[in-house]
Amino acid sequence: ATPVAIMVGTGKAAEYGILIKSAESLENLHSIDTVILDKTGTITSGHPEVTDIEVLDPSMSPEEFLAQAAALEAGSEHPLAQAVLEKAKGDGVSSVQAEDFQARTGRGVSARISGKTWLAGNLAFMEEEKAMGPEQETALVREKMGQYASQGKTPLLFVRDGQAAGIIAVADTVRETSRAAIRKFKEMGLTVVMLTGDNKVTAEAIRKELDIAEAVSDVLPTEKEACVRSWQEKGHKVAMVGDGINDAPALTRADIGIAIGAGTDIAIDSADVVLMKDSLQDVVTAIELSRAVVRNIH
Ligand code: ADP
Ligand code: MG
Repeated sequence: ATPVAIMVGTGKAAEYGILIKSAESLENLHSIDTVILDKTGTITSGHPEVTDIEVLDPSMSPEEFLAQAAALEAGSEHPLAQAVLEKAKGDGVSSVQAEDFQARTGRGVSARISGKTWLAGNLAFMEEEKAMGPEQETALVREKMGQYASQGKTPLLFVRDGQAAGIIAVADTVRETSRAAIRKFKEMGLTVVMLTGDNKVTAEAIRKELDIAEAVSDVLPTEKEACVRSWQEKGHKVAMVGDGINDAPALTRADIGIAIGAGTDIAIDSADVVLMKDSLQDVVTAIELSRAVVRNIH
């Protein structure tokens, strides 16, 4: 591409709030045939809200449960944690203190509250931590978690000293711009893949709603990168779009890494392109601009 064409293309992109970091990125965008999208914060707004609270431990009132759940999540910066904190604040529950807070990316959190060990997260996390007790209880919890997930909600399981304390279900809305962009990607002949650390049932509900070809669920951050690599090894040119710390390795690995502007600094640093308006429609615009730039030159 000629320097002038690149300059015009980069300038046009900037007018749309699409920051393209290098001439090479603008050129490479035209050859993308696969778009891999993170779910939470990318396809969805990333501002999830609590939809259901179900206390499973009869010794606790809903207020007590929510107060301790919020104390546990207070140490986390995850959007799911923010949803729990907002709910507690909105309901005016009194705050309690947590100690020894720990977070496991893509899995959940743990801390000690009033001398008891609390964990919150998905079932995979509870299994890995061997957090839960008797088989029957686990089966019941599993069923309840599945019911929320099949409604497209993300159920967070709270365990206190080896016993299921309760479930908080959180739901995140699909951005309208994502819906339109995904339709357009398909019209452009691109393969669309959704990647998420969320569970299979929740992921499948969203995949169906958006009519996406493939959804990969329960992925860890390192696995996001491996997924991008496996598409590349099949001969595809991959654009990865994400917002989180957990997306950074995949953004670096992709032929074109695209970060949501409202995303974390590390995602933005790892990306070749940044979308200041947080809209997947700007991915469509960027690819179209690149195609136009390349067409002018050759
Ligand atoms: P995504 O890839 O969809 O952005 P993440 O990889 O960040 O999702 O998280 C995957 C899963 O890990 C969540 O759906 C949730 O079950 C669990 N999780 C992560 N952080 C927390 C937290 N602070 N509290 C409870 N659960 C959490
Ligand atoms: Mg995300």
